[in-house]
Amino acid sequence: MPEPKTHPSVLIIGAGFGGIAMAIELRKLGIRDVTILEAADGPGGTWRYNTYPGAACDIPSQMYSFSFAQRRDWSRPCSPQPEILAYLEQVATDEGITPLIVTGSPVERCDWDADQATWTATTPDGRTFTADVLIPATGQLNTPVNAKLKGLATFAGEQFHSARWRHDLDLRGRRVAVIGTGASAVQFVPEVAGIAGHLDVYQRTGNWFLPRWNKPYPARYRWLIEHVPGMQKVRRRMVFDLTEHLTRGIRNPKTVGRSWKAVSTAYMRWQLRGAPALRKQLWPDYTWGCKRVLFTSRFIPALRRENVELVTEPIREVVPEGIVTADGALHPTDVIIHGTGFASTGFVLPMQINGPSGSLQDAWAGGPSAHLGLTVPDFPNLFVLYGPNTNTSGGSIIMYLEAQAAYVRQAVELLARSGAAAIGVRPEVAVASDAALQARFAGTAWLDCDSWYRDQTGRIVTNWPGYVADYLAAVRTLDPAEFALTPSSTPQPA
Ligand code: NAP
Repeated sequence: MPEPKTHPSVLIIGAGFGGIAMAIELRKLGIRDVTILEAADGPGGTWRYNTYPGAACDIPSQMYSFSFAQRRDWSRPCSPQPEILAYLEQVATDEGITPLIVTGSPVERCDWDADQATWTATTPDGRTFTADVLIPATGQLNTPVNAKLKGLATFAGEQFHSARWRHDLDLRGRRVAVIGTGASAVQFVPEVAGIAGHLDVYQRTGNWFLPRWNKPYPARYRWLIEHVPGMQKVRRRMVFDLTEHLTRGIRNPKTVGRSWKAVSTAYMRWQLRGAPALRKQLWPDYTWGCKRVLFTSRFIPALRRENVELVTEPIREVVPEGIVTADGALHPTDVIIHGTGFASTGFVLPMQINGPSGSLQDAWAGGPSAHLGLTVPDFPNLFVLYGPNTNTSGGSIIMYLEAQAAYVRQAVELLARSGAAAIGVRPEVAVASDAALQARFAGTAWLDCDSWYRDQTGRIVTNWPGYVADYLAAVRTLDPAEFALTPSSTPQPA
């Protein structure tokens, strides 16, 4: 029988916002044996990888930052990627987390040892790391996916994904093709448009837009934020309420959603005034809020530039000289940029996870789900941050991650004080909570179109169906009755 885990050791995979929040919580609990395995050469996660020009958060930084590490000197409402990365690195340093990060350690597989009740993570170079608790914090958006197009391999020019930007390639004067018009593309298209000789933007589906004013803060405003007590708090609260109202629009497409649609419509019509053909091409044909509503004030003006063309004709194939659309036209191209997003719905965690009765991949073959997005039956001592159904269309993922880290800390605390060998969610609890969660999607805009939120069966597997406040309430206090404890050699009362 395994030993009791009175002083559990913890292995976290990924040093992004989630992994760092988790390590901070565990340190608060007094857990000293915490290791963070990170594939990259430093912390940051998505904010280390996504360095494309124009990369920034698209909700204000007062909310896109930890509640316990509020900064008052953000340069503008939605901070650019270098500022966010520097912030996260600073938090990791201030909280004593940096020394726990083992960089250059992509995890290939994790195996459960039932005799010891431990997890062992293995890297491709054969290093192994063993701990009592395993917390993958690799997020939903870690595996970039290129467009799968006929003939792509024959392309004679350069191509790359937006999450692996080729800063060594000079795009000045080149003929560039951007495939995709999602949240990433709307940020980098205006930057590329300003330097490319010609830019073709390939759109498969139109989007709903809302404005994003992101000028640097005026000095007077910065002074107020820095010197007036409570200003920062008020602003964070205002942004929170606004984003909850966005969710209200998605949850109630026939009422509140209509008023949001009217705002988007007015804004888009204004940006597209005098350009009826572009308006027709760009206009979405699905319910407002079904796909992520994009905050940008610069994307549509970029499409109106002389050197930019929006291509809505489907792509037939790629040939060495460029891209051929379904109408037979060849669009000569030097560089293809894939703005085509990430493998999210399969939750293809970038490693194999082998539990007591099989792999997590197999357990999720019929569609991923986890109690509160965090814990999966028959995977003891395993907690997945930013797991199934914990993405947000309206709020800040940082708020979810912070709350998740605090919940997992409570689970580790329960394990430690119970004297058990392992802790796992009861299957009936996970089944019931998944059914209740899926039922909450009924009548919402999310069900009105196809999107990356849905798996092949149509189930929404990425997003939380309610408000951020609901999620925070759901995970605030761990209910020990929802968990089963595996006895150790010397069990103690919980
Ligand atoms: P995305 O939202 O999944 O967008 C991918 C785009 O590529 C869509 O326009 C999609 O069209 C298109 N596409 C995919 N495959 C294609 C194909 N074979 N041919 C033509 N078009 C194709 O990806 P993303 O823009 O990288 O954003 C992913 C997520 O990252 C966002 O939803 C958001 O959560 C996050 N993000 C956040 C920020 C931020 O500011 N905080 C910035 C960037 C990204 P369809 O719509 O037709 O599928």
